[in-house]
Amino acid sequence: MIHGIDPSDDAPVVLRAIALYPRIAMNDAAKIAWIADRLIDQFGAPEVEVIDPIENLVLTILSQNTTDVNRDRAFASLMARFETFEQVRLAPLDEIAAAIQVGGLQQQKSRSIRETLEWITNERGSLELEFLNDLSLLDALKWLTALPGVGPKTAGIVLLFSFGRPFFPADTHIRRVMSRMGLVSERGNPHPRLNDLIPADPLLMQQLHLLAIRLGRELCHPRKPECERCSLRSECLWIRTHGSTSEDAVTSPIEKGGSN
Ligand code: SF4
Repeated sequence: MIHGIDPSDDAPVVLRAIALYPRIAMNDAAKIAWIADRLIDQFGAPEVEVIDPIENLVLTILSQNTTDVNRDRAFASLMARFETFEQVRLAPLDEIAAAIQVGGLQQQKSRSIRETLEWITNERGSLELEFLNDLSLLDALKWLTALPGVGPKTAGIVLLFSFGRPFFPADTHIRRVMSRMGLVSERGNPHPRLNDLIPADPLLMQQLHLLAIRLGRELCHPRKPECERCSLRSECLWIRTHGSTSEDAVTSPIEKGGSN
């Protein structure tokens, strides 16, 4: 049964058809709402934290090619060493690299962090991003994606989770889940399509972002997804062509590379 529609014999034929064969009637926008409902049923509504925008940018850089646990350890170590982002901006690269070593790729990440902090300071005169609240969503996106190494995913994370602005960011897990659900292509930039489909409701976007990542990490693996445990299986296109469990799932080039 979907959205409270009763598929019993007494229900009107059209409603029974929608309930029993939802894929006939469900367009892509309805599918987004259905996915959000099902994932909240399966995992519970996630708690959404407001994160300082500069911290959010630094965390995103630290998250590259590592686990959330090691990203958080690296961030804690960085702030234990420097206390403020202004001190990080002025610090020698090797000191920043030593502080974030636990997260790996410390040479590359220390350069990216310092370059980002420098860029913001040069553009704004100080390390602050609150002015983004006064820009249109499009202008805020343009400003953030002009930062070195910042693409639509990182810009969206900052806008959505630091400012509550309605731009849906998609990482590799979200792209995999949404492409298997038939909503985006496996290749190319998924942001225009997803942002057309998903209502501009910041809380819905935040929850869907967190839940789809959780599904991608825990069940919808690149190889051998655990479809029998997935609440989306009745509407999943991938399962129709591959069966409930398959060893044929492949990792696309995008899975390997990710995007910013
Ligand atoms: S049914 Fe399987 S392939 Fe489809 S979204 Fe769920 S885990 Fe992924």
